[in-house]
Amino acid sequence: MFGVVPKPLWERRIAADERNRIPLALRCLLVEHDDGLVLIDTGLGNKEGAKFRDIYGVENEGREGPTLLEDALASLGYGPTDVRWVINTHLHFDHAGGNTYRDASGAVRLSFPQARYVVPAGELDFALHTNERTVASYLPHNFDRVPFTSVKGEVEIVSGIHYLATPGHVPHHHSVLIESGGERACFVADLIPTTAHLPLPWIMGYDLEPLVTLESKRKVQERALAEGWLLCFEHDQAVVAGRLAVEGKGVALVDVLRRG
Ligand SMILES: [Zn+2]
Repeated sequence: MFGVVPKPLWERRIAADERNRIPLALRCLLVEHDDGLVLIDTGLGNKEGAKFRDIYGVENEGREGPTLLEDALASLGYGPTDVRWVINTHLHFDHAGGNTYRDASGAVRLSFPQARYVVPAGELDFALHTNERTVASYLPHNFDRVPFTSVKGEVEIVSGIHYLATPGHVPHHHSVLIESGGERACFVADLIPTTAHLPLPWIMGYDLEPLVTLESKRKVQERALAEGWLLCFEHDQAVVAGRLAVEGKGVALVDVLRRG
């Protein structure tokens, strides 16, 4: 998760277990939009086997529905058919895994059958044409039979919700910018997966083009600072969101919203 950053530095931020794993969230963002529910990323789903779940230490089993995501929707009084848009930042298994679920008969079904699924242009093709380096992250049952709408550029998907091109992690990685009541929030996905990744050179080893990530981060942080964006962190176990403030040569997080 920290690429070339030495462990003695990163383990002060997030301690590793005896198998060198760190706790991470799989946090999706739900927008209660006037036009219906908009779900940004879908977590990891329920389709992977025991070996996979052991390697990653997956805790995602739902009490009622297939995963914790359906449980969380239910806790707000919503069901899967209430979701009108699913927006994927990219198609890695921990972001698009909940696009579909495995039912009791073993069949793979759409998790949100009434939703329009949206993916950045180019990402589906990239996910379907893997190489030795990318194949482990792109699991076809998360996307190969999903009826995607491919969105090119930073156009408005639903009123007030845009993709923001933030390449580097993968070439078509997009963050999602939400504007409402004069405020802006940005779901930064794998651009800044946790608050520990706020320093510009703290870039994941998973990133295919780390120097591209560096420039994407620089650009997003500059805008976030100038415009007071609320940044939402997908993988930070403790911190849900916060705003940036200048601190020395870098940035600090203020207005921190912690997990309840
Ligand atoms: Zn990813």
